Amino acid sequence: MAPTMATEWNINQVRSDFPILSQKLENGQQVVFLDSAASAQKPTIVLDKEREVYSQYYANAYRGVYEFGAKVDEELETSRETVREFLNANSTNEIVFTSGTTMSLNVVAQAWGRKFLKEGDEVLLNEMEHHANIVPWQMIAQETGAKLRYLPLTEDGQLDLGRLPEFLNERTKVLSVTAMSNMLGTINPLEVLSKAAKTVGAKFVVDAAQYVPHGPIDVQALDIDFLAFSGHKIFGSTGVGILYGRENLLEEMPPLLGGGHMISEVHLDHSTWAGLPAKFEAGTIPIAQAISLGKAINYVNDLGWENLQRHEQELSAYAWEQLQTVPGIKIYGPGLKERGAIFSFTMEGAHPEDIAQLLNRKGVFVRHGHHCTMPLHNVLNITASVRASFAMYNTREEVDALIAALHFTRERLR
Ligand code: PLP
Repeated sequence: MAPTMATEWNINQVRSDFPILSQKLENGQQVVFLDSAASAQKPTIVLDKEREVYSQYYANAYRGVYEFGAKVDEELETSRETVREFLNANSTNEIVFTSGTTMSLNVVAQAWGRKFLKEGDEVLLNEMEHHANIVPWQMIAQETGAKLRYLPLTEDGQLDLGRLPEFLNERTKVLSVTAMSNMLGTINPLEVLSKAAKTVGAKFVVDAAQYVPHGPIDVQALDIDFLAFSGHKIFGSTGVGILYGRENLLEEMPPLLGGGHMISEVHLDHSTWAGLPAKFEAGTIPIAQAISLGKAINYVNDLGWENLQRHEQELSAYAWEQLQTVPGIKIYGPGLKERGAIFSFTMEGAHPEDIAQLLNRKGVFVRHGHHCTMPLHNVLNITASVRASFAMYNTREEVDALIAALHFTRERLR
């Protein structure tokens, strides 16, 4: 089925492209899916593409000259080119298929970090990072003797840029930051951070997992050295992600994983590596998922990012305004101007898990817990929160359903 083409946001058409959104619970309750920050739903065009791959020409990738193999290779390269365009990368050599953001960031920390970090070097992170942009750096820091530093946040959950000079110096070799916080919703100023990193000669690494379903990122304009994102958050499948790396950096770093496809020659006593991007794609990549990722990106490209952003901004403003009307709710993070469509909150006297359970009874699906941001929750002095995250297919009526369910929850838990 062709994707919906929309010059303006036709929410009903968009929703009809996502079959799961019309699901009802056993009690007839309409499902209100507000957990897209954890994993987004998939449009028919993505589901159809995977079915097409498996039912019409499936074969292993980059191995066969026979027709199916050649078709798979061609489809993969089409998808890689779509990702290149989406990021405005210089070359498809810079676009590596991985298993997701976590893997991509581990490749940067482990492969680049092991070769280039040494004792006395510093890696600058901050207090709002997802565990995927903390733990890999901790692991490599332990191994190399490099030191991790964390830029603090302001009271309202933004990076405290005023304190950047205290944390950035000639020892800083990496500044790694999320483009959008998966808990606070904060959208970080990549341009400012990139310039700051470059003034001290640090590599600028961006965790784009949470941002990409809300907008493209231009790696050249922002002078980004490495960037990671996951297919499943941008309406594609699980199991596939992207590592963008500047070509000269990918060239000079060793591969992280060894195995099939990433080699040029294998001898019993040594091996040599394939060229880019194969050097970082050891083993069989997630073939159908990598192919359908291109379709997911095309889908949003066709809808129009500006239209998407206008819809999400209106929805965020409405959610923001409505959430304030629920007594006892505390929303974390900055004001509307600095945030995207993610709202994490606590409710006085109620445990986040109980809130999520009661919302579920009303068909409203939200996440609770630490959202893989334990350090951030410690900074905020809470152990858990509830997170309602919105995507382009969510509606004002769904905000109303969330608010009604929160009133119901509050009555139940008082
Ligand atoms: N970084 C951020 C900001 C995220 O929100 C997530 C997922 O929630 C990740 C990294 C990890 O993504 P994945 O589990 O797909 O590797």
